[in-house]
Amino acid sequence: MSKDKVDCKNLSLTELENLFSGWGEPPFRATQLLQWIYKKKVHHFNEMSNFSYELRQKLSAFAYLSSLKTKKIQTSSDGTQKFLFELEDGETIETVLMPHRGRNTVCISTQVGCRMKCKFCLTAKQGLIRHLKVSEILNQLLEVQLSLRVASCAPWQSNRITNVVMMGMGEPLDNFTNVISALELMTHPHGLELAPRRITVSTVGLAHKIAEFGKKTNVNLALSLNASSNEVRTSLMPMNKAYPIERLLEEIRSLYKNNKKRKIMLEYILMDGITDSDEDAYRLVKLLKGFPFKINLIPFNSHSDLTYREPPLERIDRFQEILKTHDIFSFIRWSKGRDVSAACGQLRSLHPTQS
Ligand code: SAH
Repeated sequence: MSKDKVDCKNLSLTELENLFSGWGEPPFRATQLLQWIYKKKVHHFNEMSNFSYELRQKLSAFAYLSSLKTKKIQTSSDGTQKFLFELEDGETIETVLMPHRGRNTVCISTQVGCRMKCKFCLTAKQGLIRHLKVSEILNQLLEVQLSLRVASCAPWQSNRITNVVMMGMGEPLDNFTNVISALELMTHPHGLELAPRRITVSTVGLAHKIAEFGKKTNVNLALSLNASSNEVRTSLMPMNKAYPIERLLEEIRSLYKNNKKRKIMLEYILMDGITDSDEDAYRLVKLLKGFPFKINLIPFNSHSDLTYREPPLERIDRFQEILKTHDIFSFIRWSKGRDVSAACGQLRSLHPTQS
């Protein structure tokens, strides 16, 4: 695409209104444009039949509508699909579609790579290459939606995206401005119009961004706690040095106080011999006393590059049992798409030597 043209998918409603006003057009043209892009999902200005020929020409001369190139789709035995997308500069990202009983949850990426250096995550190994633009975050949903529409679905299966999780490559709060703008368009009545309660942003725990996140959006937040002591958490997630567990729990407690409708979840990876002991479970009980938050226990997803392991089943059950006897509700989240490396912590960009 032309480097000097503006990608309309990077513009907010207000920015589009300003663009049209500058051309002497009424501001409602901006709403119409959003509807063409996100509701009717057209790819070219010349399909926008309620715009005059002159306006379409003007738009084409000044702007364009970006899209992602689908390089590969892998389907897991559990129905999960992993998409490999190529961006305009040749970088690649992965996106995961998880169909489940009439729901379609899409796990999207927010950065090419990641700079959080979590020891257990494959994305961390490539470091941060760059932030994703607003358009690149949204286009993942538009492309997956397109594939759902053309796929012949089983009768019980919906062909609409119903839920979104920002749990793919990258740390969403590290790409704060673009993530917030993308969330605005995702939830806007003229945009993708997804209910905020069906969208979850997952964070490593950038504590200094959590209050601002609370002010700017009312989507759900998942905190990747992953350990019960600062010592272990820092060894697995170096960001914990700057933002230790107590500070994080304080931040999410006030996030909850300010908006009780927002769902807040904790994620805890169970790693054999590292985070799965009885002591860990008891420490968690102590830490989470009085917190009304649900905790997702994620058995570690292994990959060839790492030596960590998933705990035996009895350990996982025992861990959950201890939490339960202390009134902490937890859910064991078996990651989907493990056989095609589409599970949590298994996403990465394509290396030039890979096909
Ligand atoms: N940066 C964000 C989102 C990406 S990771 C975050 O840290 O939350 C999404 C989730 O997958 C996090 O809860 C993370 O702790 C978990 N995860 C990462 N690697 C994993 C692995 N190998 N096995 C299981 N869960 C993993």
